[in-house]
Amino acid sequence: MSDRITEKLQRLQEQMLAGTVSRRDFLRYATMMGVTVGAAEALASCAPKPAPTAVPPTKVPPTAAPPTAVAPTAVAPTAPPPAAEKKPLAGHMIRYNPQLCTGCSVCAFACADKWMTKYFPEEAKDTINLEFSRIRPMRFQWVDILQNCQYCTLMEWAEGSNKAPCQQVCPQEAIQVVPEGQGEPTFTGYGYMTVDRDLCTGLDLCGRCLEICEDQFGSGISFDPIEKKAQICSRCGGLPACVDACPEPGALMFAPLQTNGRYWANTPSAMAEMLFMKIYQKRRTV
Ligand code: SF4
Ligand code: SF4
Ligand code: SF4
Repeated sequence: MSDRITEKLQRLQEQMLAGTVSRRDFLRYATMMGVTVGAAEALASCAPKPAPTAVPPTKVPPTAAPPTAVAPTAVAPTAPPPAAEKKPLAGHMIRYNPQLCTGCSVCAFACADKWMTKYFPEEAKDTINLEFSRIRPMRFQWVDILQNCQYCTLMEWAEGSNKAPCQQVCPQEAIQVVPEGQGEPTFTGYGYMTVDRDLCTGLDLCGRCLEICEDQFGSGISFDPIEKKAQICSRCGGLPACVDACPEPGALMFAPLQTNGRYWANTPSAMAEMLFMKIYQKRRTV
């Protein structure tokens, strides 16, 4: 097991101890990192125990052993301080670095788990269906590519609208931007898009948002496997769960928005450069 995974597991154990990560989540994340179910359960049960609660002086039995009997080196484990509260960020986008992404799919599991639990909590008790994910790592020949809505927009001066193409073609106005101050913390809001599931008529009856997105070589729209309603990355309202879950530092980032053409925020030459470096381990240009 790599040092990085060991470190991540230790952090998860500490978070479980501090109560910020449930045992179920610990097991799920550990198995996603390649730990077997048996080993993950063993790790969950051997997490450092919380420091014993101090006994008030009045309750100390008078017959306590003499001080010399107490092992001087016994130091109670201290629970880590609670993680600093993260603030949602407006105007950011999901970016990935193909040189660092290993294609492990932890981001997709985190996203699918989050949304499946929200909309289909009963089904989510037993399984995580990756079709609920709004981010999809794909192996393209030798390279791992992350598919995720890039928040492209039409050009007001040329096309008469600055909406996203998918938003523009939706006959139900189901694709909406949820402004800052509205929405649901950690799910929607902060100026990011979402699909109103009550308005969306679904893939079997419509699917126009998917068609227009794919027309532009994007792959930002998917459909949930149960009701077949459209799904789009809402940036988790500025607190992306996929970025938090990624075990590879720097592979997945929540970066200030860059607009550069219709689709990917990286220029085609920058993308080509990154992919070249990943495949050949050297720079394409000098
Ligand atoms: S057309 Fe595709 S990439 Fe563009 S905003 Fe819509 S889903 Fe995202
Ligand atoms: S599938 Fe739903 S979100 Fe997509 S265009 Fe049709 S109604 Fe709108
Ligand atoms: S930001 Fe949220 S909705 Fe978007 S891909 Fe990541 S976890 Fe899924």
